Amino acid sequence: MITLDAARSRLLARRTEIAERARRTAAELRREHEPLSADFGEQAVQRENDEVLQNLDDAARSELQRINRALARIERGEYLRCVACGAPITTSRLEAVPDTDRCIACA
Ligand SMILES: [Zn+2]
Repeated sequence: MITLDAARSRLLARRTEIAERARRTAAELRREHEPLSADFGEQAVQRENDEVLQNLDDAARSELQRINRALARIERGEYLRCVACGAPITTSRLEAVPDTDRCIACA
């Protein structure tokens, strides 16, 4: 049986980690460390890097939303139940995917 306190701690730790990564990504996108090169070939490489960073940022954002929803479900006492079918979500699934809101059958 997973405890809600343990789940909440894991989600909060992950949220801090993502926020920190997003902050670093934003700093890189603003080119705090590396100004845009005057060389056109080098600029193309830098733009590709920016795309990768931007994608990472989007993925981090959607994970952050899932984590916030999971934390809200903990507060409402709904964390252990599947939002789709109402069945209990297994402990092993919640441990593997702490921000899930569905049981294995509905995922
Ligand atoms: Zn379900």
